[in-house]
This record gives sequence, C-alpha cells and structure tokens, in this order.
Amino acid sequence: MAASFAGFQSLIENSPDAISLIDRRGEILYGSASTSKLFGYLPEELIGRNCLDLVHPEDRYHSSCALQQVLSKPPGPIQWEARVLHKNNNYSWVESTVSNFLLDSEVQAIVMHQRDVSERRAADGEKQQHAEELVRSNLRLEEFAYTAAHDLREPLRTISIYTEMLIRITPMNPDAKEMAGFILDGAARMSALITDLLSFASTGLHETPRPVRLQDALAQAMRNLTPAIQESGARVTVDGLPLVVGDEIHLVRLFQNLIGNAIKYRSQDPVEIHVSANRRGAAWVVGIKDNGIGIAPRDQSRVFKPFIRLANRDLPGTGLGLAVCKKIVEDYGGEIWVESKLGTGSTFCFTIQAAGQDRALAQAAS
Ligand code: ADP
Repeated sequence: MAASFAGFQSLIENSPDAISLIDRRGEILYGSASTSKLFGYLPEELIGRNCLDLVHPEDRYHSSCALQQVLSKPPGPIQWEARVLHKNNNYSWVESTVSNFLLDSEVQAIVMHQRDVSERRAADGEKQQHAEELVRSNLRLEEFAYTAAHDLREPLRTISIYTEMLIRITPMNPDAKEMAGFILDGAARMSALITDLLSFASTGLHETPRPVRLQDALAQAMRNLTPAIQESGARVTVDGLPLVVGDEIHLVRLFQNLIGNAIKYRSQDPVEIHVSANRRGAAWVVGIKDNGIGIAPRDQSRVFKPFIRLANRDLPGTGLGLAVCKKIVEDYGGEIWVESKLGTGSTFCFTIQAAGQDRALAQAAS
C-alpha cells in the first residue's frame, strides 16, 4: 500500500497537469509542482487561498456552481473551463477536472486536475472567426452577383426591343436582316445566361437544413418539366424515395436540372429515365439513370464545371446546370458524379444525408 502511495505521489509530482487538493469550502490544501508552471505561484504560496480567488470575475459564478455540483455528486468528475489569473497578471484559459474524494478515508479532499487550454481556445476562436468571415464573404459575393445579374437585364431588354423595332420599321436587305437576327439570338442567349447565373448565385444555404421527402421534391421537379416530358414522351420511373436532410427548393432544382438534361441529351431511342435511392452509411446515394447519348470518360468530371458544354451546341443551355447541382450537393456535405458510356446512357449520382427515419421510406410518385 505504501509503495503504491509513493507511486501515486510520484505520478502527481511529475504530471504536466497541476493537481491540487481542496477542502469543501474551496480552500487549497495541497498543490503539485506543476501549479507553479501553470499559475506562476509556488505551491506553498497557494496553500490556504480559496481556489475561486484566482478565477476571472466573469467566470467565478459558473466555477462556483461547478464546485457546488462536485460537492453534491461524489465522486464526480466534473469538468469546466474558466480564465485563471497567472502571477504575471495575465489570464489563461484553464480546464479543471474535479472529483469529490471527501468521503475517501485516504484522501479526504476534493481532487482538482488543471491544464492550460489557452492555445486550443485561441485556435477554436480563430476557426470560428474564419467560418463567420467566410459566410459573410459568400453572402457579399452572392449579393454582388445578384445585383450585377439583375442590372444587366435592363440594357439587354433595351437591345432586344430596339432591334425588333428596327427589323419592323426599317427596310433591310436579307444580309442586314440576318445580322439583326444574330443580335436578337445573342441577347436571348445572354438573358438565359443571366437567369442561370442568378440561380447559381442564389443556391447558398440560408435556412437550416431540415427533413424533406425526396419524392415531393421529385414530383415538383416533374411538374415544372411537364412541357419537356410531354414533348419528348419521356417515361420516368421511380423507386421508393427516402426522407433526407436539405431544403426542398434546392432539391427540386437538383432533380429538375438532372431530369431536364436526361431529356435534353437523349438519343434516338424513346426516353427512359429511372430515379432510385440506395442507403450508404448515414447517407443516401440517389441515381438518375437515362438512356441518352452518354458522356465520354475524359469529360465525366469536367461537366460539373461552370460553362462546360460538350454536346450539340444547337441545344439550348448555358453550361451552368450541373455546376448548380454540384454547388447544392456540396453545400449539404455530399458528392455528385456521373457514370456513363458514350452512346448507351448516363447515371448521375449524388449523396445526401439521411433524415434518420428509415420507416419514412415512401412509395414514390410515378
Ligand atoms: P447545359 O445543359 O446548359 O449545357 P449542364 O451544366 O447542365 O449545362 O451540362 C453540361 C454538359 O454536360 C452539357 O452541355 C452536356 O454536354 C453534358 N450533359 C449533361 N447531362 C447530360 C446527360 N444526361 N447525358 C449526356 N450529356 C449530358
């Protein structure tokens, strides 16, 4: 027993943490050698003082409550952080872990381990500050993109309206008429680009993600795509879709862009699209499979970059649809990719966090 006590004593003396024994009123009975490293005081300078005396006034109430809790909950441990005054008159953040051994016949005291956590607190504070700055800067960028895109619309409308008037009221030879037509096409394309840029700029997360039924998002996307679905005769089939964490507006846009593309980049065959979801850990992998023209392996990661267009340039589009999808999926912490074979079809897959209620796996709207 004596040997083991000596062992404990050596552990205490050599521990990098400051270890003190205090009585039920908080008075310091003993301080290990490291108390002088942590607080600048020699252990004997601390004996007899109340351990709360050195705590920052703003943290004193919370520390005293924690100590009361230790007294009422033997043997603990209870842990908290507070600023403690060093002999050099600076405060450092200290983590205290306290156990009540008052009823232990060998110890008869409250045992307090303390370590300096100022560096960790400063790093956490910096990280938090960076994260806040990033959110502010993203909001400023979004605002800028929104205003720029909005203001560009006005002069564009003027160009279109006056070009149309010129065509109507001015006698033009066929070449001039063709050129005026190019101006109108250019203006229409730019207008589509502005609309997509606005949509790209406004996909940031503004609301706290919450449970969303994927089947509702899909049903809304299909309603928005009704003209394209009817015109192409596309057949869309769906497996049961789960409840996920997100924002319905974003998920509608995601499905709308992916299913819209599956229709737009179709082959000669009747359009077949299948939507499914498979569980992978805490997430779902959602797949949108088509039998369209497919994408060559070298282009499969490129298509998610803004303004990349591979296929027939006569098809309408701005090259921003998949970039918007990527932004939405990544904002929710997921990934997006495509598996495809040229001439056979593509499956666009994305992962999204499950809402944790598997029984909500619902029958999909077909
Ligand atoms: P957009 O459709 O406006 O061109 P997207 O960003 O939606 O822009 O798509 C980028 C490119 O990826 C398209 O131009 C097309 O070449 C290719 N692509 C997208 N979806 C499909 C698909 N389902 N099948 C084949 N190619 C596709």
